[in-house]
Amino acid sequence: MNFIVLTIFPEMFNPFWEHGIIRRAVNQEKISVSAIDVRDFAEDKHHITDDRPYGGGCGMIMKPEPLAGAIRAAEKKAPLSKKILLTPQGRRFDQSVAQEFASLDGLILVCGRYEGVDERICHDFIDDEISIGDYILTGGELAAMVIIDAATRLIPGVLGGKDSAEKDSFSDSVLEHAHYTRPRIFEDVEVPSVLLSGNHKEIEKWRLETSLIRTFLKRRDLLENRPLSSQEIEILKKWCLDIEKIIHDQSLFGPDALSGGQQEG
Ligand code: SAM
Repeated sequence: MNFIVLTIFPEMFNPFWEHGIIRRAVNQEKISVSAIDVRDFAEDKHHITDDRPYGGGCGMIMKPEPLAGAIRAAEKKAPLSKKILLTPQGRRFDQSVAQEFASLDGLILVCGRYEGVDERICHDFIDDEISIGDYILTGGELAAMVIIDAATRLIPGVLGGKDSAEKDSFSDSVLEHAHYTRPRIFEDVEVPSVLLSGNHKEIEKWRLETSLIRTFLKRRDLLENRPLSSQEIEILKKWCLDIEKIIHDQSLFGPDALSGGQQEG
């Protein structure tokens, strides 16, 4: 997959390309990456890319000519790529959009600065507008990195079996299960014994349980819009029954009922 970023700060991307999974994906030729400097397409000798807004008001607007020139140059390099404008007013980026992008031939990512870009660019040169969330960044560069990062790890073969993306949060509309690593006891807190049991069936069941329960507690909206399997329904039902039992016992016998009437201290 081909990523081309159009920006007035191309140097921002050098450390990004040079680390971790992105670097590995580049080395393995799973992705190719480049940044085009929009200033190179400015027509004046000072390479100015912004101007005052028509109608007055504060801030500067990115001029259309340098952006149009940069987009045309990117299209020549990667004619099958989808042209994306990063903007807080765009379609919200999430894991399903990342999945959609990961299957494309390429992305041309146009980064705005200042108060944004001239509207004629949005209308005539762009296929899709994407926002990474309801907040305002100073420029589209971080948003472009977020998109490249999230899409790259979903390209087949980039992560490999070891860090497969299949079980990541959101891939099946649930949050991922809890994780533990060595040491077995950390500051008096022990790793759940099932994870040390070697019983893979029980471990899978525990993982599904923690995944469902933490989704319910942290992101209930995800569960509400997702069909549940019969095993998942059983897990949630059991959880409800356990909670009901605690409520029932405590309302009848008080909190001591749980500890068999023994009080601490
Ligand atoms: N005045 C614009 C508005 O209110 O819609 C915001 C401009 S913002 C300061 C400058 C640039 O940062 C935008 O053109 C866009 O490229 C980028 N940007 C800011 N927030 C973003 C977000 N949430 N998602 C994607 N890009 C964003």
